[in-house]
Amino acid sequence: MTYMTYKEDDLIMVSALQHYIFCPRQCALIHTEQVWADNRLTAEGRIMHEHVHEQGSETRGDVRIVRGVPLRSLRLGLVGMADVVEFHREAKDVWKPFPVEYKWGKPKLDHSDMIQLCAQAICLEEMLSVTVPSGAIFYGRTRHRLDVHFDDALRRETEGTANRVHELITSGETPPPVYEKRCESCSLMSECLPKTAGKKSSVKRYLERMVKMP
Ligand code: SF4
Repeated sequence: MTYMTYKEDDLIMVSALQHYIFCPRQCALIHTEQVWADNRLTAEGRIMHEHVHEQGSETRGDVRIVRGVPLRSLRLGLVGMADVVEFHREAKDVWKPFPVEYKWGKPKLDHSDMIQLCAQAICLEEMLSVTVPSGAIFYGRTRHRLDVHFDDALRRETEGTANRVHELITSGETPPPVYEKRCESCSLMSECLPKTAGKKSSVKRYLERMVKMP
């Protein structure tokens, strides 16, 4: 089967998929407008990722552990870095890649973590010409490892999300803010100002009153 492929200049970060699922406006602010701000959650997550990447590579029995692995898929137009890829020995000189993503928090209600991991698997498949049937997410707060199987439904969801993120970024438009519960944990709350969406600023209201005065 022949697939359309993206050019190097059009690749988007794997992390953009997760940002898009959380909030399309946040995705556009970060990946189109290059706005970034840390809050406690993102800072803790960043420190955790840096700590994982610093630990280098090692072999434990039949598992070779490689940290900070560059990723790319021209088919989905993605680029990024895997926290950890374990290579499980299946036979002499046959190693199966198994991506492991580290998350600071706890499992989410949506599929965003699984989609990010599945995107990493699709990158590895394209780069190494192998199949990657499963991986895992390690959650720091609950300290447990969730195994994820990359079935057809999850792969379709991942590809659909990547397509929508490309459409959003290509459009160059940033969706308007909509205040929801998720905004309270968003690191871009003070840049986005979702609570003032649709309201005129007090300065604007003041000027309008002044113009109407006899
Ligand atoms: S504050 Fe809310 S609307 Fe604004 S980017 Fe964050 S989640 Fe989206």
